[in-house]
Amino acid sequence: MANRELIVLGTASQAPTRTRNHNGYFLRWDEEGLLFDPGEGTQRQMLFAGVTASQVTRICVTHFHGDHCLGLPGVLQRMSLDQVPHPVRAYYPGVDAEMFWRLRHASLFRERLTLVEHPVDGDGVIADGPDSPGGAGGPGEVSGAGEVSGAGEVSGAHRAGRAGFRLEARALSHLVPAFGYRLVEPDGRRMLPEELVARGISGPDVGRLRQTGHLEANGRLVKLDEVSVPRRGQRFAFIMDTRLCDAAFELADGADMLVCESTFADADEGSAREWGHLTARQAGQIAAASGVRLLVLTHFSQRYETGPPERLRDEAAAAFSGEIVSAADLDRIPVPRRAG
Ligand SMILES: [Zn+2]
Repeated sequence: MANRELIVLGTASQAPTRTRNHNGYFLRWDEEGLLFDPGEGTQRQMLFAGVTASQVTRICVTHFHGDHCLGLPGVLQRMSLDQVPHPVRAYYPGVDAEMFWRLRHASLFRERLTLVEHPVDGDGVIADGPDSPGGAGGPGEVSGAGEVSGAGEVSGAHRAGRAGFRLEARALSHLVPAFGYRLVEPDGRRMLPEELVARGISGPDVGRLRQTGHLEANGRLVKLDEVSVPRRGQRFAFIMDTRLCDAAFELADGADMLVCESTFADADEGSAREWGHLTARQAGQIAAASGVRLLVLTHFSQRYETGPPERLRDEAAAAFSGEIVSAADLDRIPVPRRAG
């Protein structure tokens, strides 16, 4: 099972269909689980997908149209019912904090969840490094005590209980206040097992070398760059309801995986403009201009339910030559392996 994957809980826009639930996306990222835009029915979709309430560590809501948030009452109450032991952090447009309060307290239940709210009031970093209370934390340095697995990947951050990413938000251009989100894993270094072996370095010494940048081994000073190469951090972007805008391109910049709304087809571009949405082709344009590796299309209008299934995908492909997945409910889509 991949350590980092998108589990698609729902793919419909305004109205669900027989085959598509309202929005909902669960991103497994090492030991964190980010639930994005839980629409109506998300709790049951989680059950079908094998996602438990206790796997959720953060909830990100782009905006408060119903298809992006009406699942919150059920999901939050389920987390209380299951007595999720860890704090869960919720991010949403701060200007609509009252809307979040209403959803959180939509019906009577015994609240046993530690839910920490982080209203988002502007563009920028909203979580960084260790379980931060919301503001920008440290400079996002790479974690120290990494372990070298067979593939030579160092994966210490989550084991040490740190978020292995920085979470950012940018205001989108929709009919109501809306934010897109972006996860950025700090750049790090990939250890080269054969170089470590050649110098007789193993076990905890590897972590020490990563932390300090040098190590005395067998009477010789070894520097980190002798036994490792730069490793670019992975990036994930989540863009929901918006017109084309600069923020969409900034969110998508260099993303290994971009989840992007593509509510409308070319023929309905006028509706997209009127309702503050993207066409599939525009999603493709964002991906192409931003160097995205994998584009996941979703949030489809019910009007295409009976049409050719690949219509929206083909229109996006006319603008973007990279890999495209037209999401279906309960799809599991791995974040692409590191490019280098
Ligand atoms: Zn909307």
